[in-house]
Amino acid sequence: MLTSLLEALGVWRAPLSPPEASREEVLTVHSERLVKRVEAASRGELYPDLEHYGLGTGDTPVFPGMDRAARFLVGGTLEGARRILSGERRVLQLGGGLHHAQYDRASGFCVYNDLSVAIRHLTRSGLRVAYLDIDVHHGDGVQWIHYEEKEVLTLSLHESGRYLFPGTGHVHEMGRGEGLGKKLNLPLEPFTEDASYLEVFEALVPWALKAFRPDVLVVQAGADAHHLDPLADLLLTTRAYERLFRLVLEYAEAYAGGRVLVTLGGGYSLDGAVRVWALLYHLFHGLPLPERLPEGWRKGWEGRLGKPLTPTLHDPEGAYPEIPRRGEIEKRNRLTLQRLTELVAPHLLH
Ligand SMILES: [Zn+2]
Repeated sequence: MLTSLLEALGVWRAPLSPPEASREEVLTVHSERLVKRVEAASRGELYPDLEHYGLGTGDTPVFPGMDRAARFLVGGTLEGARRILSGERRVLQLGGGLHHAQYDRASGFCVYNDLSVAIRHLTRSGLRVAYLDIDVHHGDGVQWIHYEEKEVLTLSLHESGRYLFPGTGHVHEMGRGEGLGKKLNLPLEPFTEDASYLEVFEALVPWALKAFRPDVLVVQAGADAHHLDPLADLLLTTRAYERLFRLVLEYAEAYAGGRVLVTLGGGYSLDGAVRVWALLYHLFHGLPLPERLPEGWRKGWEGRLGKPLTPTLHDPEGAYPEIPRRGEIEKRNRLTLQRLTELVAPHLLH
C-alpha cells in the first residue's frame, strides 16, 4: 500500500535488494534453541515445547518458510548497518522494526530481532549506538538483549505497560552492570496527545543523546501511536509525526555525526500508517510534502479495503473528540519524565 502510494506520487526510488541474514548472523542475538525450533517449524516439524519459545501462539504462529521470511527482514536492517559502516549517512529500511523478539523467545508478531542484529553488528565494529523507539509499544526485545551493554543506549517512548502490551517499559528498568543508566523508558498515559508527547520527547531525547554521544542513531519508527490505531490509545496526529521525523534527522546531525538508520515497526490502521510512513519517506529524502493523495490511488484502495480513506497526507483538523482529562495527562507525563531523568542522570552523565 505504501509503495503503491509513493509510486502514484511519483517519488518512489528503486530499493536495494539485500540478501537474507544468515543463520550465524541471527545467532549473534538469539539462542540456538530458538533458531532450531523456528527452522524445524518452517519445515512443518513442530517441537512439543514451542509455546515456551513464544512460537505457535496467536501473535507468532508458525508457518512454512517462516525462518527464511524472518531472516529476510533481518537482512534488510543488517544491510542498513553495513551501509552506515561503509560511509553512508542515512538508511531507511521500509520494513523490519521487530522490537519484541527476545534472545530466547518470539513475541508480539516478531520472530527474529532485526534491530538487535544490526545494533550488534555496529557495536562489534566499535560504534556506540543510540536506539530510539517511538512505536506505541515498549521496545522490550531490544532493551533486554542489550540490557548490560554500555555501548548501547536504548530510549523507548510508549503507552504505559500498565495498560498495554508487553507490560514492561517502566522508568526503573534502566539497565544492569555496565549498562546501568543506559536504558531509558518513558511510559506515557493513555490518550496522550501531540503537544504533551512532543513536550517530553523534546526534553528527553536531545538531553540523553548529548550525554551519551553516539556514533549512530537507530530508530524504530512504528506508526501505532497514531490516533486511528486500533491496538493502542495514544492520540498522535500526522502533524506530530512530521515534527518527530524532522527532529530525528536534526538530532542525528547534531549528536550522531549525521548517521541514522530508520526502520518501520507496528502500525495497524492502514489509513494512519500509510500516511505516517509516506511522510517519513518524503522527509527522509528531502522531498516536498504533497497535500492531497492521488485520487486514483485512493479510490483503488478504498475499493480493495471496503472503507473510506483520508484524502490528504495530513489528518484533517478535529480528527478526534475533545479529551476531558487533557491537563491531568500532561501533568502525569511531565512527572514521569522528571522521575526518569532523576533516576538515570547520575549514571548517564558519568
Ligand atoms: Zn507497536
